[in-house]
Parts: sequence; structure tokens; C-alpha cells
Amino acid sequence: MLLFGAAHATPLERFQYSELHMGVRVNVTLYAKSTEQAETAAKAAFARFAELEAIMSDYRDDSELMRLCAKAGTGPIKVSTELFDILQRSLKLSEETAGAFDVTCGPVVKLWRQARQNTRLPDKKTLEHALSLVGFKYMKLDQKQSTVTLELPGMMIDLGGIAKGYACDEALKAMRKHGIESAMIEAGGDIAVSNPPPNKNGWEIAVRNLDGTLFSLKNSGISTSGDTEQFVEIDGVRYSHIVDPRTGIGLTNRVQVTVVASDATTSDSLATALCVLGEDAGISKKYGGRAYFVKSR
Ligand code: ADP
Ligand code: MG
Repeated sequence: MLLFGAAHATPLERFQYSELHMGVRVNVTLYAKSTEQAETAAKAAFARFAELEAIMSDYRDDSELMRLCAKAGTGPIKVSTELFDILQRSLKLSEETAGAFDVTCGPVVKLWRQARQNTRLPDKKTLEHALSLVGFKYMKLDQKQSTVTLELPGMMIDLGGIAKGYACDEALKAMRKHGIESAMIEAGGDIAVSNPPPNKNGWEIAVRNLDGTLFSLKNSGISTSGDTEQFVEIDGVRYSHIVDPRTGIGLTNRVQVTVVASDATTSDSLATALCVLGEDAGISKKYGGRAYFVKSR
């Protein structure tokens, strides 16, 4: 009998890369057959982050998002697939959470950013006006035409609660195109993982606020949101950078939420939403996810 030589698969090696994108450090861990494959894939992942930042940033006046907001109140505007996609997913979560998650919260978020800078609460009248421009029901999406209508002039979209998770998912996809099946991407409090490392059942992830609890995850997203890093303290009250879009006030409930879900777009946006809601109320289950609440210290 003729024996064919056993076709040994090239063993996979572990590689790590790191760059700054979207205002945070982005860490990529991947398994590849060669340095060349690893580098090409990591480059593609970071390039995807850069592409999405150019679309979604609210710090850059020339981002597609800011150009869209500048046209608020003027009728339907055609947008890129990515922008349409993320707005559609945002809108769905707004509906599921009765507006606890709402990317039209831009005008209010801006005032709380200023509050963090001057340690002064936003002026009441200014806040009221900003709040009058917030409401996902004023954002209309037309899938066929790929257009977005922001009905009120002055409306501002803020994707800070979902864009990093989305970018992690997209970066994993970009790496798959280069044959990388097993990778982890971490951007701030958001992590996306594809298949497990060789001979493992999952990626082991420790979440700091859960006191070292280890999650073993594959093909999932995991995100943590809360008030531990970005907040302002005024008269003994801590106001988070996450706002309640229904009142316009930075959260004071001192809660941190970690969400595990099927992808990082979901875990990122859900974690932000559940901070606002302060309880799960069956929402994470609807998304096939799990939520862990911790009181901030
Ligand atoms: P981080 O940016 O620290 O990872 P999150 O994912 O929770 O935290 O996102 C917080 C950001 O989301 C805020 O800085 C703001 O840009 C935006 N945001 C704040 N409140 C809301 C909200 N209720 N719904 C949607 N986005 C929000
Ligand atoms: Mg989030």
C-alpha cells in the first residue's frame, strides 16, 4: 500500500500588535502561520479601524458622520454602508430600551464633556435646549436608498457607545480575509474574539471590575461600561460620561456593567444601555447575551 507522507499542518504561532485608534490603545493578538501573514493581517485590522474612525469620529469635522450632522434638518442624505449599518443597529437598541441607548444624544453629551472640563454643571436652559434635539424618533433610516434623515436642525449623532465594538468586529473580519481564524482585538473596554487559540476551548479574558473573573470566550464580544474612568464630580456627586437621554443628565447611579454577547457591537452598545437602565430586565437575553452588574466604588 502506498503511504502518503502525513501532511503536517504548519503550527500556528502567537503574535501581538498594538496601535492607537479612536482615542484608545488597540491590542491585537492573533495566531498565524508566518510573521508575514501575521503582519499583513494586523495591518488590515488597524487599517479598518482607521477607515471607520474617518467615518464615525465626532472629533473630526470632516468625518462622514459630522458631515451628515451638518446637514441635519435638510432631508435624506445618502451614507456609506458602514454608517447605515451602525445607525440601524443603534436604532434597534434604542427601540428595545425605550431610548436608554440613543445615539442622537450628541448635543447633551457635548455639554457634559464641557462640564468635565470646567467642573461646572451645564446651564439649565442650555441643557433643556440640547435635550430638545435628542430623540431617536427624529432619525429616519431608509434601507433601500441607504439614506438617513435627521429631522431637526442641530441634531448630533454620537457613536461613542457603539463604534469601538463595531470596529473590533470589523477588524476581526478584515483579518479573516487574510486567513486568520483565531484572534482577539481589544479597544478600551471592548473586546472581540474569533475562534479559540490552538488546543484551547476559548480565549481567557479577565475583567477587572469583576475581580479577576475569567471568561473563556470564542466568537463573541465582551464590553464593560461605567463611570470609573470618565466622569466629573460636582458638589459630591459623580456624573458619568454616559447620559440618560431621557433626562439629559450624566448618570449618577454609580454602576458598572459587563456584557458578553455574540459580537462586540452588541456587547458595547448593550453595556452602555444597561448602565442607563441600571438593571437588565431581560434585555441581554433577547440579544443572546449575559450582563454582570457591579456597583462602582
Ligand atoms: P467607553 O467609551 O468608555 O468605552 P461606553 O461604551 O459606555 O464607554 O460609551 C460611552 C459614550 O457613549 C459616551 O462617551 C458618549 O459618547 C456616548 N453615550 C453616552 N450616553 C449614551 C447613551 N445613553 N446612549 C448612547 N450613547 C451614549
Ligand atoms: Mg458601550
